[in-house]
Amino acid sequence: MARINIGSITRDNIRNMLPYSSARDEFQGQASVLLDANENPFNAPLNRYPDPHQRILKERISGVTQIDSDSIFLGNGSDEAIDLLFRAFCEPGKSNVVSIDPSYGMYEVCAHVNDVSFRKVLLNDDFSLNAEAVLRAADKESRIVFLCSPNNPTANLLDYKSVLQIVNDFGGLVVVDEAYIDFAASRGMLGDIKQHNNLVVLRTFSKAWGMAGIRLGMAFADKEVITVLDKIKYPYNINILTQEAMLKRLVEMESSRDWIETIISEREKLRLDLGRFDFIVKIYPSDANFLLVKTTDAKGIYNFLKNRGVIVRDRSRVSLCEGCLRITVGSPDENTQLINNLSEFLP
Ligand SMILES: *Cc1c(COP(=O)(O)O)cnc(C)c1O
Repeated sequence: MARINIGSITRDNIRNMLPYSSARDEFQGQASVLLDANENPFNAPLNRYPDPHQRILKERISGVTQIDSDSIFLGNGSDEAIDLLFRAFCEPGKSNVVSIDPSYGMYEVCAHVNDVSFRKVLLNDDFSLNAEAVLRAADKESRIVFLCSPNNPTANLLDYKSVLQIVNDFGGLVVVDEAYIDFAASRGMLGDIKQHNNLVVLRTFSKAWGMAGIRLGMAFADKEVITVLDKIKYPYNINILTQEAMLKRLVEMESSRDWIETIISEREKLRLDLGRFDFIVKIYPSDANFLLVKTTDAKGIYNFLKNRGVIVRDRSRVSLCEGCLRITVGSPDENTQLINNLSEFLP
């Protein structure tokens, strides 16, 4: 059970500041005449500011996840949560964060934007996590460890015990980005945030839920961490259209389950179909909605497909991913088009 002093890793200026108090902070509830927010009285309902605390949406998400509302932060995509974690807990020009390599590019970009140095620890050759090496890379200026499980672009789930070892032994926050967890045979780490106040789990509605366009991501953590993020977010960071679209989507939850099942069975079909091509050297195991494939000619295949209107991601310049393409699992028809096109590729 990891317990750290959240206050001691919060930036001084942020710990000491008063948050912006919006009109909707000072008055909540039903009223017949709202003259407090300088809104336009016409063009209802979009004339009104959204609930800055997204209470109804958080209650619904709490119902689905069994996590208390006050342990949930909602952001304009998970990317907002990632950026706010840097801004709240890292001292520009002084702190560092540790992450794995290869992984999702946003951690490093946000580090640079916030003038925080970014330490990368190479995964093992089989893409497994080297917990000891991550812990060795950390020092007293390390505020956050960023992990991603299932990892992008390597597609594998990280070993639960190794992640817990880092949570237990690291003195700052451990962020586990679970954007792809719904495609894995794992419940993920939401159930661990109660016991470890330095664990932050990121989830998103962009992948399994099919809602990338509305930009809605979640961070789950001890309420003390969530309070800090809430304090520095833009007051109305989740707009009305997003909140309403997600409330509607949560009512139709069953479709997500069907989509996930289809995507997983298509993933395994795609693995078999891709495995028949000589120019595909290796298809890595996947706990996500994409396959990382090692090819004899990543650039050639990428360009060949692109010219036929099929776009995949060239990851061949990423650490440990020489010759690799990352292919998202599409609809059955899209996957068939991919395979039909590839069968005409001449190495
Ligand atoms: C796609 C993805 C996300 C989602 O980001 P949003 O901003 O919520 O759309 C987060 N983390 C990883 C690793 C991803 O691949």
